[in-house]
Amino acid sequence: MPSPSLVWFRDDLRIADNPALHAAVERGEPVVAVFILDEESAGFRPLGAASRWWLHHSLSSLTDRLHEFGVSLVLRRGAADRVIRQLVGEARAGAVFWNRRYGGPERAVDAGIKAALREEGVAAESFAGSLLHEPWTVTTGSGTHYSVFTPFWRACLALPVPRSPLPEPQEISGTADAPETDALDDWALLPTAPDWAGGLRETWEPGEPAARGRLAEFLENDLPAYDRARDEPSAGATSRLSPYLRWGEVSPFTVWHDAVAADGAGRFLSELGWREFAWHTLYHFPDLATQNLRPEFDAFPWPPLDPSRLDAWENGETGVPLVDAGMRELWHTGYMHNRVRMVTASFLVKNLLIDWRLGEEWFWDTLVDADSANNAFNWQWVAGSGADAAPYFRVFNPELQARKFDPQGRYISRWATDAPAEPIVDLGETRKAALTAYEAVKRAPRTRSR
Ligand code: FAD
Repeated sequence: MPSPSLVWFRDDLRIADNPALHAAVERGEPVVAVFILDEESAGFRPLGAASRWWLHHSLSSLTDRLHEFGVSLVLRRGAADRVIRQLVGEARAGAVFWNRRYGGPERAVDAGIKAALREEGVAAESFAGSLLHEPWTVTTGSGTHYSVFTPFWRACLALPVPRSPLPEPQEISGTADAPETDALDDWALLPTAPDWAGGLRETWEPGEPAARGRLAEFLENDLPAYDRARDEPSAGATSRLSPYLRWGEVSPFTVWHDAVAADGAGRFLSELGWREFAWHTLYHFPDLATQNLRPEFDAFPWPPLDPSRLDAWENGETGVPLVDAGMRELWHTGYMHNRVRMVTASFLVKNLLIDWRLGEEWFWDTLVDADSANNAFNWQWVAGSGADAAPYFRVFNPELQARKFDPQGRYISRWATDAPAEPIVDLGETRKAALTAYEAVKRAPRTRSR
């Protein structure tokens, strides 16, 4: 009797360089491929709307890819510990393989499942597929985690070179009696009433083949100008790989090795380093999206929320052209250029004096690359409360930023032609108010009482 191997896909929606899939193929038994939409396990953050859109198309693409090998993707919904054990029973699986994830609640669920399966005599193995260096492998001389990027990245570069990508399997043997699958459409991941995803459809093609195409195109056409033009939002000089990396449609090992082979990739590779650092930070501070990393920021005197200001920011109606352009690019495409993310975030926190957590939530809902580590980490970076953060007193001036990085106004005229003419706040006065509020942080204790 064959004892199939379950391959549990999560944030690794690809065939190539997928260590869990590779191990299942090596085991030599039929493969049952599974994705579980888990909105029930304790502490799991519900996906944002743009992420749900992406996930739908990514699963549809993975289904097609697996069909090329004669394997179907089994879709199930529910708490992963229950669903995995059901599936093991239905498939009479002898082994379960997955690639590791690094968020706190996810690790707890995975550890529980691994222990329970092993106790029942089912092999359960996990692999490193989503980060070049797993968070616990990068430690300071005294064995602790890093809180500053430059030494962190130096330490990463001193580690053995990230492994080469695994070859795509030649064959994957499926099974004729795979467990039943939900219909993807029944999950209702796509918006219908209204269907606001037109801009996302125009902008993106989710899935592994598009990810590989994007990487190749970037390395060939854009990498040479990356250093010079990466900060200009209208230049199209960055890779736009972030959603593909978020969903694991391309592995960081593939990106790393393909980029290293091209000339002048150092700066680009260090951006992958920021991704690693954000995950390193999340691993050590699982509450990164809700708790100030620096406890003294708990004393920040946020004024009562004025919802009309938050609305104006979300809708790109602040009257500050670069901010409005960014927020409209985000709403339309599910993406915003990194420089503009910093400017819009700084404006929310330091000019509107709105808690960074509300901005983080909006980005979480609207970004197709919304990532539990990168989003929270970068919001805290901008707010000044995070790891290796921009000092609070450094307030981005959106007008100077526009003059410097969008001197011809191309980006602004692409996105914000009909934005209101008058800013809703005075940039100079609000900057001063923010700095005054910050005095409370300077006086606050630097440890958190539990
Ligand atoms: P490239 O410049 O081509 O960089 C290559 C890859 O490196 C990116 O795809 C990304 O995976 C990684 N990367 C680049 N910059 C950063 C960074 N600052 N931090 C972590 N990783 C980085 N990135 C996300 O992937 N998801 C998010 O939810 C997210 N939220 C953000 C929120 C704020 C407030 C800010 C300031 C930044 C945020 N970023 C986030 C980081 C960054 O803006 C995006 O990764 C980048 O704009 C994606 O475009 P790209 O793929 O063309 O980047």
